[in-house]
Amino acid sequence: MTPTSHPPARVLDTPITFLKGVGERRAEAFRRLGVLSARDLLFHIPHRYEDASTVRRIVTLRVGEDASVIGTVVSKGVLPTRKGLRIFQAVVQDESGLIEASWPGQPFLDRSINKGDMLLLSGTVRFYHGRQLMPREWVNLGADDSGTAEGRVLAVYPATEGLSFKQIRAVIDKHLDALVPALDEYLPAELLRETGLPGIQVALRRVHRPTSVAEAHGGRHRLAYDELLFVHLLQRRANAIARQARQGITFENRRDLTSKLKAALPWELTGAQVRATREIVADMTSPLRMHRLLQGDVGSGKTIVALFACCLALENGYQAAVMAPTELLAEQHFRTFSALLAPLGMEPVLVVGSMGAKARRAAAARLAEAGPVLVVGTHALVQEGTQFARLGLAIIDEQHRFGVEQRATLGEKGAAPDILLMSATPIPRSLALTLYGDLDVSVLDERPPGRQPVTTALRAERARDRVMEFVETQLAAGRQAYLVYPIIEESDKVALKAATTAFEALAAGPFAHRRVALLHGRLATEEKDAIMRSFRDGGIDLLVSTTVIEVGIDVPNATVMVIEHPERFGLSQLHQLRGRVGRGAEESFCILLGDVGPESRERLRHVIETEDGFEIARADLRLRGMGDLFGKQQSGLPVFKIADPVRDEELSELARAAAERLLHADPTLSTPSNRALQRMLTARYGRALELFRVG
Ligand code: ADP
Ligand code: MG
Repeated sequence: MTPTSHPPARVLDTPITFLKGVGERRAEAFRRLGVLSARDLLFHIPHRYEDASTVRRIVTLRVGEDASVIGTVVSKGVLPTRKGLRIFQAVVQDESGLIEASWPGQPFLDRSINKGDMLLLSGTVRFYHGRQLMPREWVNLGADDSGTAEGRVLAVYPATEGLSFKQIRAVIDKHLDALVPALDEYLPAELLRETGLPGIQVALRRVHRPTSVAEAHGGRHRLAYDELLFVHLLQRRANAIARQARQGITFENRRDLTSKLKAALPWELTGAQVRATREIVADMTSPLRMHRLLQGDVGSGKTIVALFACCLALENGYQAAVMAPTELLAEQHFRTFSALLAPLGMEPVLVVGSMGAKARRAAAARLAEAGPVLVVGTHALVQEGTQFARLGLAIIDEQHRFGVEQRATLGEKGAAPDILLMSATPIPRSLALTLYGDLDVSVLDERPPGRQPVTTALRAERARDRVMEFVETQLAAGRQAYLVYPIIEESDKVALKAATTAFEALAAGPFAHRRVALLHGRLATEEKDAIMRSFRDGGIDLLVSTTVIEVGIDVPNATVMVIEHPERFGLSQLHQLRGRVGRGAEESFCILLGDVGPESRERLRHVIETEDGFEIARADLRLRGMGDLFGKQQSGLPVFKIADPVRDEELSELARAAAERLLHADPTLSTPSNRALQRMLTARYGRALELFRVG
């Protein structure tokens, strides 16, 4: 390519709609995939490849094997069976032989699969009048797919409704040659040299048009490194700004309220609570601004540690704020704090959205006074109407449920208040560094004593009646119970129907004489809160629920939880759910109910055999990657499209070290050798604009 035909870099900013082959409808689908511009399109990379090493010659397939093949449809049709089930069948052929593929109950495929189409099929080979493949996964590659015919590699892209992987591939194929040269290398030459990674143009060609799967993975490696580097740069820079922006407050350890609180506590602090409190006190009494994450499993006792920090701020004449993700949790903290502060002669303030105007004004008036006050609330705390006269400490509970901006806004409500983030999702330290940058981390790895362990067991479907009888004995003893259904996506109508039907059956049948309620994500917030409040106050015996039950909710009288279809949950999710029981002095139970396969049984063992959240999180990460760990409520965490910070842990460590060095030498990335990197960061991450603004 001659220098004159080098396209200007701004073609990369072309909105996806304006690219040839992308109409308004497809653009909408692309946007759902996070692809807004030509640049994003380049970085939308395949999540899977098929080639000669994974695709088998049809002649070699043996009954009982699980395999992938690529073949052309030579005949097809729909077969009725005696039972009324209709089966779509197609015979596919490659250069080595033929095999029949069979899709029971999917006669409609007859409309979309045609003779002459090339199919990629993966599934088990069984014996049925000869070898027959039962496709588990399949892709129609279309009529003449030159991309795969000659034993080349087939790239499979993440697709979405209305935009197949094949259409995506066609669009990328059409534009790749024009777009790639417009993208200049942005990694500093030194970094490239030292990591031995390929240049960006080479890497992009390799991931989109590889000649072997190994080559594709080499390209992916470079892009995963970049993504990790970007996230580390953003995190470190954001944290550095937060720290250095203003000096923090230097609190004095007066041992006034904190000592009184300690004396008034009905129990001793655990060793872990003492350690975490010391670390927080050390931060708060230093002139630097505190920026610390307090991590502890459900029930490890984070709230009381937070209250100690608040008392230190209060005894110095400052205000302290605790923000929780829901009104229910805010109220719960408010009650706890009210009870514990009463002997100290202090009274906290509650600020939530549903408060009446009068109560709101009264709360606002107390915050406007410069006196020491502890305020607990929801995101209503960061709304414009809420003003603090002298905020010295901002605490954010269940911090991953807030967006970056909400967390930052609370910090801006005062003059450099100290910041404490809290999270119940236990994650290994290396992962915490990737997700949160150079936050300081305190860990509560000890459970308060006197707590009964939760007995967890897996029970088969045939034991259902006995399980329900057991629940009834608990209710008869005055306890309360949860029954949880796996609705991970609240849009999942089928699952919601199942939960509703089960609720109706239980409420009319075995628990007709009990107070039963149904809680799910489609209910209005006020309705949800009303049900949870009623359960908390003992007005409901059995709560049938989807996964929306609050993580932090504390109902000590609830002693049994039955979880349906446990195999559909991540391990950490099960552990968090289970954390809602075993909060009182009574023995508690968690029953996983359903017929699960041997693999799931093996996986669920991790939850059954231990109550150590860190150990469970590690197993979860190893088995299912990081997507499951935080469920769907991870708005505050960076999104990884290419890298997986767990599986790519070593790469992440390299990227973290590089980010540290780069920012140490050039905090705004504005020297000539770093400027391309800075431009790329700001082009791809909106947040980078403010973080790396020069001057
Ligand atoms: P989480 O870390 O999940 O937010 P909480 O702060 O809600 O946990 O504490 C869970 C329960 O344990 C609460 O009922 C609390 O009163 C109790 N608790 C906390 N610390 C101790 C302790 N050191 N000894 C006994 N009970 C404690
Ligand atoms: Mg909590």
